[in-house]
Amino acid sequence: MNNTERPWGVLDGIRPVKLASKILKTSKSPELAVDSFMREYGATREKAELAVKIASIELPIIDAMNPKGVSLYIGIPFCPTRCLYCSFVSNSGAKSAKLIPEYLNCLKKEIAYTADIIKANESIIESVYIGGGTPTTLSADQLDELFYSLYTEFDLSKVKEFTVEAGRPDTVTKDKLKKIKDYNIDRISINPQTMNDSVLKTIGRNHTPDDIRNAMHLARECGINIINMDIIAGLPGETLDMFKYTVNEVENLNPENTTVHTMSIKRSSKLNETIEEYDLTAGNQVSKMVDYARNTVMSNGKNPYYLYRQKNMLGNLENVGYAKPGTESLYNIYIMEEVQTIISLGCGGVTKTVDRKTDRIERIFNVKEPKDYIERIDEMLQRKDVLRIK
Ligand code: SF4
Repeated sequence: MNNTERPWGVLDGIRPVKLASKILKTSKSPELAVDSFMREYGATREKAELAVKIASIELPIIDAMNPKGVSLYIGIPFCPTRCLYCSFVSNSGAKSAKLIPEYLNCLKKEIAYTADIIKANESIIESVYIGGGTPTTLSADQLDELFYSLYTEFDLSKVKEFTVEAGRPDTVTKDKLKKIKDYNIDRISINPQTMNDSVLKTIGRNHTPDDIRNAMHLARECGINIINMDIIAGLPGETLDMFKYTVNEVENLNPENTTVHTMSIKRSSKLNETIEEYDLTAGNQVSKMVDYARNTVMSNGKNPYYLYRQKNMLGNLENVGYAKPGTESLYNIYIMEEVQTIISLGCGGVTKTVDRKTDRIERIFNVKEPKDYIERIDEMLQRKDVLRIK
């Protein structure tokens, strides 16, 4: 295999920036760090420069973390429909929507239980991220119930950043956005993935490109200041020209953050089960897509600030988050670089405790299915007990 097929050289791991940070800290200059990275891992110059640039943006953010800081992740595992490439336990349809009230009741129990532990540990909550699934699948009243519980149980006075994923534009309404804003939440993510109607249909979305534009305008109207948009390079049926259109249309909407994912074939996705029905995009085409996205997004004033890789990515490439300076998502950096304890609540949550002195990381898993979560909530609470500092 040559460098075109393996642009990251021998690196198979998912966190190249972690390695670039280590090299950068001991190098005399970023240029020398790039040379070392290339030498050590056989990566192309382009990838080495990308990793070192991201490391140089992340390092001051990591240095500014509170030593007692932790972050919270809250999982809402419901979506309007299931995307073709999804591997999450995202529960879609009316049957699973019926579980939402009971799910919220259990989540509130876990919130109260975890809040006691965080208080006793004297930890400081630095960031909160509500993800999924699609959290805005909840109604405005249900969101209110969740936010109220978070604000009453936890001390959020030192939170630097609070994000709510509003991934599917067809779940975004004025009522919900106002609720988000009422609770001082100023960061959301609206995730088009593509701006081409035919590709939206292929991937199982039941909204149009105009729904994406409308959701974005509504969010601005409601005063949301930091918006991320996700796109995916290499979606089935999206040619290079169509992808360029997606990038241009997204950048016309001027989100503060753009995250460019590379299509990866997840084992438990519908795509994997029916793979013979699709023409997958060739690695060299995906590489051109990723390059076009990088140049366009960067010419719109955004810098790459976090990066991760997954298994089975087309072209062995990467996912990169770009942000206008000062709008980088702290949570994304903390979780990707594994520099802060992230306490996860709800379905599918994986709590990761990070001891930076010893580099030791431990994980606590919650169950993945909402039905199991509801039935086994007491066990989920007990699993959190290991977080208590004796
Ligand atoms: S929006 Fe995300 S979590 Fe929901 S089905 Fe699509 S990929 Fe899965």
